Amino acid sequence: MLDILRRQAGRFQCPKCGQSLADCQLEMVAHHDDQSLVKVTCVHCQDIRVIAVAIATEAETAPVIDDVRDQPADELGTPITTDDVLDARLALARFEGDFASLLR
Ligand SMILES: [Zn+2]
Repeated sequence: MLDILRRQAGRFQCPKCGQSLADCQLEMVAHHDDQSLVKVTCVHCQDIRVIAVAIATEAETAPVIDDVRDQPADELGTPITTDDVLDARLALARFEGDFASLLR
């Protein structure tokens, strides 16, 4: 995880001193599912900032509509109607939990 960031850091510049962040110090502050908080310390000006990093997973790229379509229809072969879409939207609106557990 930090290795990936390290490799990409060289493409970014410190917003404070404008130097490359290739040699910056990276430290994982918090990690939750596919979200991470990483502390970045610039070696040139010691500027410290915390960035939020989202790691792209297969689950994240899967479109939600696939889940809806997989649910059994009342009649086989019935096309999805506007009502079905509204039902799905209401179900999603009532859903309590994060996106990852929705796809699980
Ligand atoms: Zn700097």
